[in-house]
Amino acid sequence: MAQMFINGERVGAARGATMEVRNPATGELVDSVPRADAEDTRRAIEAAAAAFPAWSKTAAHTRAQILMRASAHVRERRDEVARLLTSEQGKPIRDSKIEADRFADNIEIYAGLIASGAPSGRHVPLPSQKAMGLVVRRPIGVVGAIVPWNFPLTLMANKIAPAMAVGNTVVVKPASTTPLATLRLAELMHAGGLPTGVLNVVTGPGSVVGEEIIRHPLVRKIGFTGETGTGKHVARSAAEELKHVTLELGGSDAAIVCDDADLDMAARTVAIGRFFNAGQACLAVKRVYVFERVADEFIDKIAARAKRLKLGSGTDASAQMGPLHTAKQRAEIESQLADAIERGGKVVAGGQRPAGEQFSKGYYFEPTVIVDVPEGARVWTEETFGPLLPIMRVKDLDEALERANASEFGLGSSIFTRDMNKAQRAIDELEAGYTWVNAVQIAHDELPFGGTKHSGYGKEHGTEVLDHYTEQKSVVIAS
Ligand code: NAD
Repeated sequence: MAQMFINGERVGAARGATMEVRNPATGELVDSVPRADAEDTRRAIEAAAAAFPAWSKTAAHTRAQILMRASAHVRERRDEVARLLTSEQGKPIRDSKIEADRFADNIEIYAGLIASGAPSGRHVPLPSQKAMGLVVRRPIGVVGAIVPWNFPLTLMANKIAPAMAVGNTVVVKPASTTPLATLRLAELMHAGGLPTGVLNVVTGPGSVVGEEIIRHPLVRKIGFTGETGTGKHVARSAAEELKHVTLELGGSDAAIVCDDADLDMAARTVAIGRFFNAGQACLAVKRVYVFERVADEFIDKIAARAKRLKLGSGTDASAQMGPLHTAKQRAEIESQLADAIERGGKVVAGGQRPAGEQFSKGYYFEPTVIVDVPEGARVWTEETFGPLLPIMRVKDLDEALERANASEFGLGSSIFTRDMNKAQRAIDELEAGYTWVNAVQIAHDELPFGGTKHSGYGKEHGTEVLDHYTEQKSVVIAS
């Protein structure tokens, strides 16, 4: 049985409770993990707090070297971590390898930044000649990293890599359905030289472990990724202790396809943007607005692509799309699709569970494209977290922008056009934390990423994330 990782040790829950982790492709038991309670969680928080003084005082250059070595140790065992991730999450093994690599990339990027002097402070001239002003940065303390199941490793890395690099210590709470690769990574980082207590992982329900992390006074910062509803709850609870909070929440990203776009490229790119990770990505393309003049051609192209995608278990090397993560996830997509059809929507690709013995035990659903869905349908107003793409015809860019912005979410957005004037309007007017022009979805490590409106606040990635894991202090030196 897998164990939690607290204070450099593999431990069970004090009361011995456990929970099962099942394979989304087969429903079979993969492993069990401890089901921690609030007391177990407090042990992890206290371990992180005990490790903070030494880690935060370790020279930045030394911290960077330690993180680089720990990351190298992870890279050596990348395939083992990827296999664990596929078995618990369901994604194709090729994607799991990419995700495990991106975990290591992220650790190394922030180690590199710290080694080269980030985050920088400031010298501020003061009116008195006899005094000098400085702004210095300090780590915040214990960070709680609460992570969902769709990209368990990269979304953890987005938080722990900058947090640890600047001298914070961390307690990670993975989603209950995807704890295994996370636990292994924490063990590997420690075996690779990360000091005891700097990185701890507690497994258990959000309502118990997550609650303790967001309420415990020793945790000074919460990095949360998950649903908007959960995020609002986290913000409210964390406010009691006035904690720093970063919220990366749900999205309903719109893609606008103009009539001057390269339609082959747009169809190829949007198909990846919608169906990658079986559509279970916060930054997935979840709505398309295509100009009337090219709508039929675009719809034909993307429907053909959806029909060609090969479904299969994550361990099948030729599979392009795995099962959905849980039965609940699939039921939600089916119910959003039923609502769209009831209102008059027409399915032009997919729309069902795939037939065949190999799909009978997993939570598979065909890549689906639907058109003619009237406004007000759930696919336009809610987040669709699966392989379901609604496409609406629009007369021009004004209508496309208005519809794209008519959402409570504001995570990502994209436009396909060769016209710089149209692209410029989209950049200026789309209400989102990201706008891609002739591209989608990839959140580059170099650029800050985070939403607006009900998609959350705060940034991950870029050098900007360092602002969210440090506090600034003003200093006056008088003579
Ligand atoms: P979720 O909100 O159900 O769970 C996220 C995490 O929060 C899990 O670890 C869960 O156990 C924990 N949690 C649940 N209740 C809690 C509580 N009361 N207190 C503290 N923690 C609690 O989300 P999910 O279903 O795992 O993930 C899918 C959602 O995440 C989607 O909405 C998706 O768009 C969003 N997401 C956003 C981003 C982003 O960067 N903006 C990235 C990936 C996923």
